[in-house]
Amino acid sequence: MDSTKVNLKSLHYYDELFICAYCAYCVNNEASCPTYHSVLHEIVTGRGKIITARNLSQGLINHEEGLDALRDGLFLCTFCGACQENCIVDIPLTKVYSELKTLVQDRLPKTTKRVFENLEKEHNLYGLDQVDRDSWSYEIEDQYNEWVNLQHETGFFLGCVYSYSGRAGQGPVAVLKLAKEAKEKISIFSPSEYCCGNPYLLGGQKAKAKEFASHNVSEIQKLGIKNLIIACAGCYRVFTKEYPLLLEKELPFRVISHMEYLNNLIKDKKIFLMNKSPLKVTYKDPCELGRHCGVYDVARDLLSVLPGVDNQEMANHKDKALCCGSGGLIKANHPEIANEIADRLISQMKELEVDLCVNACPSCLLNIDENLKSGKSKIKSIDIAELVLNRTNES
Ligand code: SF4
Ligand code: SF4
Repeated sequence: MDSTKVNLKSLHYYDELFICAYCAYCVNNEASCPTYHSVLHEIVTGRGKIITARNLSQGLINHEEGLDALRDGLFLCTFCGACQENCIVDIPLTKVYSELKTLVQDRLPKTTKRVFENLEKEHNLYGLDQVDRDSWSYEIEDQYNEWVNLQHETGFFLGCVYSYSGRAGQGPVAVLKLAKEAKEKISIFSPSEYCCGNPYLLGGQKAKAKEFASHNVSEIQKLGIKNLIIACAGCYRVFTKEYPLLLEKELPFRVISHMEYLNNLIKDKKIFLMNKSPLKVTYKDPCELGRHCGVYDVARDLLSVLPGVDNQEMANHKDKALCCGSGGLIKANHPEIANEIADRLISQMKELEVDLCVNACPSCLLNIDENLKSGKSKIKSIDIAELVLNRTNES
């Protein structure tokens, strides 16, 4: 047996590996580990990954097989944060996973390698032509042309998923239509945007993520933006939690979610809401906005002021919300597991008999949409901005 010890001492959070109590609260809790419930294999859980890393560091398991198993556990994880939220000794598990990923760079899953190649070539997740980064905006072409690269205090960072994935682009379109109705302007710097860097972070490549962070921050500064609107939960987490660490400084602008921006427009009476046909909806807390950033109430506040909209909470919500299955590159690496995870979430929506699943993350929106459609459900998956627009004159 090749039991070479793997030296983990240089990793941040090395000590945390040795405070695990093996209690399994990271697996057995209300939000539960979504991939564990699909694959029923402990390597995917917080406890499983920690035990494997410890055994590798002590030479107790085969070096090659152990690293392969650790890689599988790390890349089957949706990064939902349910384990971290429930860890009995407060191990920052998602940070530990990011560090452990640096150990398996020589054996990355094929799809993850392809994502890295896409980022290198075109600076977006999909490897699509960077000049098509504006494809989300065709419906509002004139407004886009007027607002693109505007020197302005308020800006909008789209991110790859909203920019390129068609259906999800309706969210930012709704935000811009509402801003126009409110007689506001927003600077769009879509053509010079790079991916926020989340896939690099999820794949264990911090240095590349830092390069992308520096580019984006410098482009935002060139336009004089002081308030940056972000509608994607992943980009929001990366800008607010990761950029200050990567760049070792506070950001020179404020980041707000599109929900906060829309809430302010309503409070300031800049947009006017109308009562239309009643709708029963449920809000899906995105893991990267909820558990990772603690943003829960702004969505509920916004939904509560929309006339005729009745927001019903799923059995699991806020810090106990179920994952949609699209995070952590798992949709790219293991789509069948991502779909199974979405199905468990959808069953909670069905119990409520809602008309709509309301999202604040394009990845959640798309994975839920795909699985609602394949299950022939009548529930529709939409962005919260689309629902706000639906309650105005402009829809
Ligand atoms: S982040 Fe989510 S999927 Fe990953 S180990 Fe923790 S609970 Fe499981
Ligand atoms: S909850 Fe924390 S301490 Fe308990 S097994 Fe999981 S990682 Fe270890």
